[in-house]
Amino acid sequence: MAIQEADLVRMSLDEVHAMAVKGLMQHGASSEQARTVADTITSAERDGCKSHGLFRLPGYIGSLKSGKITGDAVPVLSELAPAVVKVDAANGFASLPLEIGTNALAEKAREQGIAALAITNSYHFAALWPEAERLAEQGLVAFAFVTAKSYVAPAGGIKPLYGTNPMAFAWPREGKPPIVFDQASSASARGEIMIHERDGKPIPNDWAIDSEGNPTNDPTAALAGAQLPFGGYKGGSIALMVELLAGAMIGDVFSFEATANDVRDGGPPKRGEFMIAIDPSRCVAGGGAISQLAHAETLFAEILSQEGTRLPSDRRYLARESTPEEGITIPQSLYDECAALSG
Ligand code: NDP
Repeated sequence: MAIQEADLVRMSLDEVHAMAVKGLMQHGASSEQARTVADTITSAERDGCKSHGLFRLPGYIGSLKSGKITGDAVPVLSELAPAVVKVDAANGFASLPLEIGTNALAEKAREQGIAALAITNSYHFAALWPEAERLAEQGLVAFAFVTAKSYVAPAGGIKPLYGTNPMAFAWPREGKPPIVFDQASSASARGEIMIHERDGKPIPNDWAIDSEGNPTNDPTAALAGAQLPFGGYKGGSIALMVELLAGAMIGDVFSFEATANDVRDGGPPKRGEFMIAIDPSRCVAGGGAISQLAHAETLFAEILSQEGTRLPSDRRYLARESTPEEGITIPQSLYDECAALSG
């Protein structure tokens, strides 16, 4: 049954954050772990990214309850090469290691021109734009890649193998928030199918196949079958690249291994994340990124001169203008579930 306006609860962003912190700490998260996960959840609600907001809190808490995630994990930062840093999340959430790791990555990128970050042994099912945007806000070009669990059939196949494996790219702008695209290599994020199932809505034709390999609009059949890569084999190749970068290359697992290791407590699987940051001013002779950024603006202006276009991340930035004042809404059932978990 579709959700009606009357079934929605309005909350301020501060209430979202407080509810997440309380629920996480009540189930064993340290204050730093809880604060950073709550930051991730709140920024998703602020930017209208519902599938990574409070919707994910019961899953995160489920993994604290099952003992899968170490709530008071202390991430360990190390340097693997002059331009490669690593944060071992020590079996904890990814948000705190990402905060620590992106600070170190930004420093290395400014020193060396280009640098990489490996996050290992971490748990999240969040969006990637927060970490990519954080780097671009500091004038850096950024990439992020993460695996998931086996949900997506390789092009031509019908059995889940790849994760939904998103990648994000962020480009800094003078006096404006960065341009960020953050997209799954599947036709849709899994959370979107779960939200369609929860809200009783059909999914588009090209998102998934059922367990027999037939196209389906039924979100439940899709979740039991396999998601499809976007653009057929082209999205499949991006999913493959993400498996290699955020799995084999950094000594972490592939999505099918994350699935095999997972205890199915409703929370995220343990896996790695890989990031690259580039200082654009170190990519031209003479330094100074101003002219490069100005040049990029001419491209953005050309795009926007065509009717019907927009820049990636514009939708999020628009939501960000109103949610601090107006707050956000979540379904009453989700509110009740989160409220019960946060006591
Ligand atoms: P969408 O298809 O909704 O959007 C992908 C990107 O395209 C966004 O950056 C979006 O910007 C941009 N975009 C959308 N429409 C347009 C347009 N008309 N013109 C220009 N740009 C546009 O996202 P996905 O469903 O692929 O992924 C959703 C999220 O799920 C991502 O944040 C991803 O990181 C996350 N995810 C996380 C996983 C995990 O395990 N941690 C696994 C898989 C996905 P805008 O935001 O402004 O709409």
